[in-house]
Amino acid sequence: MPTDIKSLPREELEAQFASWQQPIYRVKQLMDWLYVQRVTDWEAMTNLPKLLREKLRHDYTLGTLQLLRKHGSRDTTQKFLWKLADHSLIESVLIPANPALYGEASDRHTLCVSTQVGCAYGCKFCASGLDGFKRNLLPHEIVEQVMGVERWNIKESSKLQVEGGKLEASEPSTPTAPLASGKTSSGFPGGRLVDNLVIMGMGEPLANYDNLLRALRLLNSPWGGRIGARKITVSTSGLAPQIRKLADEPEQFSLAISLHGATDDVRGRIMPVNRKYPLKELTSALDYYQAERGRMITFEYILIKGVNDGLDQTKPLGVLAKRLNAKVNLIPYNTVEGLEWSRPDEAVCEKFLAAMKAQKIVTTLRREKGHDIDAACGQLRLKTERELATGVDPV
Ligand code: SAH
Ligand code: SF4
Repeated sequence: MPTDIKSLPREELEAQFASWQQPIYRVKQLMDWLYVQRVTDWEAMTNLPKLLREKLRHDYTLGTLQLLRKHGSRDTTQKFLWKLADHSLIESVLIPANPALYGEASDRHTLCVSTQVGCAYGCKFCASGLDGFKRNLLPHEIVEQVMGVERWNIKESSKLQVEGGKLEASEPSTPTAPLASGKTSSGFPGGRLVDNLVIMGMGEPLANYDNLLRALRLLNSPWGGRIGARKITVSTSGLAPQIRKLADEPEQFSLAISLHGATDDVRGRIMPVNRKYPLKELTSALDYYQAERGRMITFEYILIKGVNDGLDQTKPLGVLAKRLNAKVNLIPYNTVEGLEWSRPDEAVCEKFLAAMKAQKIVTTLRREKGHDIDAACGQLRLKTERELATGVDPV
């Protein structure tokens, strides 16, 4: 099968163009069409010679993801369910910035992207691993989640303006288009929507290391997506060797660890990966990461009723956070259909938070209600797969 053009880093495009005796500036033109103009058709690349377009079309695909389903309203969290070329389903989640939390304008959005179809790590509480692992996403399938959401936003914004009857469809950045960032000066038609990425969707990103890094480099490149490396957070269930590898990369990507237990006993009960990389090994990899990077990391800690919400976990969690210069995100569990776990009462979550703050650990507690749109990753896909299997039309 031919490679997709959006899986190729700049250096490889330059080598390809050199072998075709094409000048290097054509690579910049091509990348601009792909990542800034976000076109979906070779024909649209009007400043590339016809012959070059033909060569590209012959040797590469220019794939897009098909939007199968979208849940959520424009001013809250929105889930996108995509169908890939082989009919696999994946999810991305668009989260508006919480001004109270980050003190930023509300036109900022974080996109949570998937890196695999399913997941092999089988954490007991997670929907993504319930049906096992199918395959790694290719670099362009990771990149296209960002492009697809931005294209969707431009289309929606234009629709709104036409409906509102006030403005032309060619001016998407207005108050009637709440999702458009309005930064047309960035050179991105329709402005930028996604300015933060979290690699926390379906799958274990560090188990798809090479494809992930290719995709992140394209999204970060000044010739590509131009999303700052520090605004890209990779979340892992704790693959120690790959954490060391990531520490050695030149880019300053941010790191989040799905901890969910501060002792081997508690963590091991819900995360099988803890058997392969117990806390001692995980923390030693994080020591290495910190020695290389010296940047604050994030511990994700889902609070699950009766499993890891006891105050006995707060002390070891505080010790780990201090040693590793980590802040802690407490996330009340989102119930998953077919799983027995539930979220603790609010009072329990607040007490856990207070115990962390008493140790002077930077800690946040997520208080929003995400239940209604299957906010935890993997759930919309699981539901849709099951509906398809039982013959219910999901759309
Ligand atoms: N595999 C990676 C990234 C994807 S999971 C990892 O484990 O870090 C992204 C985050 O969602 C993880 O912290 C995961 O533990 C969390 N998560 C999974 N199921 C959840 C649920 N039902 N409720 C809340 N968070 C959940
Ligand atoms: Fe996989 Fe992460 Fe879910 Fe664990 S929490 S099953 S590693 S996606």
